[in-house]
Amino acid sequence: MTTTSPTKERVTTIGEGGRRFWLYPASFKGLWLKRRQWLAAFLIVLFFVLPWIKIDGHQAVLLNIVDRKFAFFGIVFWPQDFYIFWFFVVGGIVCIFLITALWGRLWCGWACPQTVFLEHVFRRIEKWIEGDAMKRRRLDRGPWTWEKLRKKTLKLSLFMIISIHFANTVLCYFAGSDHVMHMTFTAPGDNWSWFTFMAFLSFLFFADFAWFREQFCIIACPYGRFQSALLDEHSLIVGYDYGRGEPREHLRKGVESKAGDCIDCNRCVAVCPTGIDIRMGLQMECVNCTACMDACDEVMEKVGRDVGLIRYTSISELEGKSQRSIRLRTVAYSILAVFLLAAGSYALLNKREYSIQILRAAGSGFSRVQSDHVINHFQVKISNRTSKAITIEPCLPPGFELTTALRTWNIPAQSTQNQSIFVSRHLDKFSPDGKERLVVSFRREDKTIFQDEITLIGPAHED
Ligand code: SF4
Ligand code: SF4
Repeated sequence: MTTTSPTKERVTTIGEGGRRFWLYPASFKGLWLKRRQWLAAFLIVLFFVLPWIKIDGHQAVLLNIVDRKFAFFGIVFWPQDFYIFWFFVVGGIVCIFLITALWGRLWCGWACPQTVFLEHVFRRIEKWIEGDAMKRRRLDRGPWTWEKLRKKTLKLSLFMIISIHFANTVLCYFAGSDHVMHMTFTAPGDNWSWFTFMAFLSFLFFADFAWFREQFCIIACPYGRFQSALLDEHSLIVGYDYGRGEPREHLRKGVESKAGDCIDCNRCVAVCPTGIDIRMGLQMECVNCTACMDACDEVMEKVGRDVGLIRYTSISELEGKSQRSIRLRTVAYSILAVFLLAAGSYALLNKREYSIQILRAAGSGFSRVQSDHVINHFQVKISNRTSKAITIEPCLPPGFELTTALRTWNIPAQSTQNQSIFVSRHLDKFSPDGKERLVVSFRREDKTIFQDEITLIGPAHED
């Protein structure tokens, strides 16, 4: 039983005057729970292991905004490649729209980090230390004793340790696991900004999983709010078969019931992590976690009735109509998602491995050398986006002379270098209008990899 009866008029966990009702979801068993536990275990391991996997010398997933380094399974993105990210991020959002239109809040119940960590890590620790719903409620309402102090201290200490580990792992995705490892063994004062960020994240996660909990899904998460716009009567939902269940009636020994299959045991409400009654229909608070499905199946098996009174279904199926997957919105989302992901893939496959930029050196005009030559100074900025060092050689067309500190330039992997070049031309060959256009080529292993036109300036003169 929950501490308050769910109503349609107000969020179950918020009572009169805005006071929070603390939920004590009961334990349950079932096939859906087992499936979710397997997926959660996989996702949790993936989350903690991924920052330590290196592909081609780069962290598997890295989103280092401060140093502007981004890597995704061996593909390294530079800030200039951000438009490719845009295609994938927007394409991913459209895919979530599509998944929601087809299969409802599958993400919330099965893969959202909030649900995965709350239900499969923090809540399990809480149940392990404080017991099932009744015991937890009794403990909270009871006076402070040494036993209560011991249990609360142990629980909150474990919550804090996991939150710190969680925060450090999140940091690995943004600062890089090598950097986080290095910071771990140096004094906090050497990395104040990162340390403060990590402490803030740890506190945030601790507060969320120890206290805020389902409020995040109900109040803070924008995805829940989108639900009514993204779902329609054909979308998959966790639904109660009111045609079969109603009118509900308590089971009475020796009395044959002519009512529906629901025995009004309230088990589905007791296990719900957001405290709602699924029998009231589709509600924004339902995260499609399937707990009520398992709980009700358990009850149905015990009373010898068919399972599936609460099941994955759709509003149209519950109303006895046919369920359609192909609808205008699913077709539109599919086309848009395919277009965005294809455009992103095309951009990714054609991503330039180098970028070379030639600019006139700031404030420089032209000078005369050896009394009969005009010389101009340029700056060349070369970015090597590959994971190997490269050697580049600048070349000029005949009639122009090149002066550089080094004939060839070695650019280390994933780095940018600035080089100065001086281009000169004999005054006799210089165009009378004082401007000469020429193409500068850059060669690597005897292949031209980049060409750009520059303008040489000199004195205008009569022919
Ligand atoms: S109503 Fe059922 S599926 Fe929805 S949140 Fe509650 S227990 Fe989970
Ligand atoms: S668990 Fe099933 S039988 Fe019990 S109240 Fe919920 S819907 Fe009815």
